[in-house]
Amino acid sequence: MLNNLFNNNKKDGCSCGSGKIYTKCCKVYHDGDPVPTAEALMRARYSAYCLNNENYLTLTWHPGSRPKRIHLGDDNAIQWVKLDIIRIEQGGPNDKLGIVEFKASYDIEGKTGQLHEISNFVKEDNQWYYFDGEIEYHDDDEQDDFKNFKPVRRLSAET
Ligand SMILES: [Zn+2]
Repeated sequence: MLNNLFNNNKKDGCSCGSGKIYTKCCKVYHDGDPVPTAEALMRARYSAYCLNNENYLTLTWHPGSRPKRIHLGDDNAIQWVKLDIIRIEQGGPNDKLGIVEFKASYDIEGKTGQLHEISNFVKEDNQWYYFDGEIEYHDDDEQDDFKNFKPVRRLSAET
């Protein structure tokens, strides 16, 4: 955790790729400020993955779909390299639902690839939560794209 924070500060930019420094970007949300939009939560959760902030990932995962325990592991084998936001639907300050499609590039001990996800977000009591997503992985060494496609249940029209 401290190592990750240090690395992050060295780069002088927030892991989410906003171009802002961490203390003026996702740290505000990690410290408890509510996120204004689904995109902001997407970025803050990505940064939390980079920083091994399991607590923030738990707090911002909707209780209706949250795993019993979020454990990112202590070995830091996976390094998140880059976040690219591809598409945003709704998820604004006046919305109750939001969809954010993104690609997150990773490096696992020299093996690179991307996680491609269409994430569903929901707002309850003025709080945005990650609900679930459709996830596929692309390993840069594999020619057949996204062969490990793992569809996940879509958000229903409730709320
Ligand atoms: Zn950020």
